[in-house]
Amino acid sequence: MPANFLAELVACLGQPVAENPTGAMQEAAFQALGLNWRYLTIEVPPAKLHEAILGVRAFGMRGVNLTIPHKVAVMQYLDEIAPDAAVIGAVNTVRCDGDRLIGENTDGKGFLRGVHVDAGLNPRGKRAIVLGAGGASRAIVTELALAGVADLLVVNRSASRAEPMVAQLAAKTQLAIRFQPWVGNYRVPADAEILVNATSIGLYPDVNAMPPVDFSEASPNLLVCDAVFNPPETRLLEAAKRRGLPVLDGLSMLVYQGVIGFQLWTGLHPPENVMKRALRAALGIGC
Ligand code: NDP
Repeated sequence: MPANFLAELVACLGQPVAENPTGAMQEAAFQALGLNWRYLTIEVPPAKLHEAILGVRAFGMRGVNLTIPHKVAVMQYLDEIAPDAAVIGAVNTVRCDGDRLIGENTDGKGFLRGVHVDAGLNPRGKRAIVLGAGGASRAIVTELALAGVADLLVVNRSASRAEPMVAQLAAKTQLAIRFQPWVGNYRVPADAEILVNATSIGLYPDVNAMPPVDFSEASPNLLVCDAVFNPPETRLLEAAKRRGLPVLDGLSMLVYQGVIGFQLWTGLHPPENVMKRALRAALGIGC
């Protein structure tokens, strides 16, 4: 067989991007399957994004991840946007189909897969509450709506951000998503079955911050999820565990968005456990 020194390339484009751990889990997955693929973590300033995407095309790369601040801006440079990414209005993963660059969003799908696989819950027909109205919330709210939740409430501090988001996502997903302003301690109602913190409260370095929620009326089956993955054991999840509630940490969403990306790029079955272990090791967390 003739030698082949040509590696397939994927990358993460962002700014700042140096602390993004996704490369560690993708590289581990490539190695585990013996693939000659490389995942590059590349700092790209906003003014250079278009050139960077032209580079993706010129290098014949197999795909890219986009992170802050490129998730919305990249859409104008792509050939096609997947339907759910179009609803979310942001792209975190690009896959290449021949010469065509297709924008996907795996953040909300990754969250949903964690709910199914790690928490063992099917959200269809459930009553869900999402705290926050930023990018993570848009992705999670969209996928929960598309997954057929019965009721979806967004609770957010600023109405000016949440109201247009809720109106837009409700129209696009055909679900009567509701909004409630976050005033003081939010008391989680007894009929809620899924609660998601999609705010940045509790994110490193502000690790002692806790979203102002009150679990005193919560059902013992309420699944409490946190999008914050650094640290994975947030004050919110600690408080939920103390009440004996089931929890799902932000590492689950992070791993599964990568798992789905790997599958989109390679078409192969991802080595999920390898990816989970590599991510935890990259973040300095024990297994
Ligand atoms: P954004 O900056 O887009 O949104 C932040 C949200 O948090 C807003 O709704 C904001 O409310 C709210 N918020 C921030 N501080 C406070 C506060 N003190 N009190 C009340 N509300 C507050 O961030 P993202 O949506 O991009 O990210 C949110 C979190 O999700 C981050 O921790 C991020 O790391 C995590 N994330 C995790 C992923 C994973 O794979 N696990 C993937 C993507 C994100 P307001 O509108 O009132 O300002």
